[in-house]
Amino acid sequence: MDIKYLEEKLLDNDGSINFEEAMELTNFPKNRILELTSLARKVTLKYKGDGVFLRSIISAKSGDCSEDCSFCSQSVHYSSPISKHSLLDPDEVLQAARQSEKMGAFDFCIVIAVKGPSKKQFEKVIESIEIVKKHTKLEVGCSLGSLTEEQAFALAEAGVWRYNHNIESCKEFFPNVCTTHTYDERVSTARLVKKAGMELCCGGIIGLGETVEQRIKLAFEIKDLDPHTVPMNFLNPRPNTPLAHMKPVASLEAIKTIAIFRLIMPEKVLMSGGGREITLRDLQSMGIMAGSNGMIIGNYLTTDGRAPEEDLKMIEDLQMPIRDRYDTIE
Ligand code: SF4
Repeated sequence: MDIKYLEEKLLDNDGSINFEEAMELTNFPKNRILELTSLARKVTLKYKGDGVFLRSIISAKSGDCSEDCSFCSQSVHYSSPISKHSLLDPDEVLQAARQSEKMGAFDFCIVIAVKGPSKKQFEKVIESIEIVKKHTKLEVGCSLGSLTEEQAFALAEAGVWRYNHNIESCKEFFPNVCTTHTYDERVSTARLVKKAGMELCCGGIIGLGETVEQRIKLAFEIKDLDPHTVPMNFLNPRPNTPLAHMKPVASLEAIKTIAIFRLIMPEKVLMSGGGREITLRDLQSMGIMAGSNGMIIGNYLTTDGRAPEEDLKMIEDLQMPIRDRYDTIE
């Protein structure tokens, strides 16, 4: 693959790579990986500017989810050892939000483990949103599973600026990931989010057993939904789930995947999410240089992230700014 040609296409002619080019890049030799990451870095700088967006999440309801997503320790179908709790009260959510604000996040996402929120759960989340917005300067996001049209508009009305709903895997592979709901249901909620006027945060998980081609299909299917932010999670195999036996994606393979996703979606925030520590290990800063310009700091939903101070130090060492909420290119 001729990197010079891609450089012209992406940097001089405002393009992005097509499916065939992305597939070709999946065979890019590992001893030339820096050429690929260097291009991805230039593309990030051109389209998104310098710096890293930080996000924090709170698992406001954990465990006992009716769905059977094969990677997820929160499913009621598997006996993964996790600490479960019912929906937190608004005061508890506020306490976590205040801590996130102290860590430097500008965006706080309330996540509950459900197929979709019940009426009672939804009302309680709306209360939490109101109290966090009243007492902090944080932008509030939500991830509550599938939404009805009415719920989507009510969240937008309550001031939720961004809704996370990952498609997890490409359409072709999705039936291997979950059987209790469909890919089309996920896509339909993703579309509803945009219809209601919220920003869409939509990504997936790498390393579920999909082929490399299906990984690239995932990227193009996400791109078609036109999200603002794309979480790139890497499988962290959880005990007692059907994917417990899987090996995490190799670090350099993950770096290559991040760079290719960046070239497919030059204008999106690519957010490193769950599994980055176990997958990237010592190459975490290389992930940022390869085009991942967003990070979840603090703990994930069921696994601990590394200490926020370590992530903040890494960003400082890279001499990159922490980006503000307005997404302007400096
Ligand atoms: S990924 Fe979400 S919907 Fe699937 S089992 Fe886990 S919490 Fe439930």
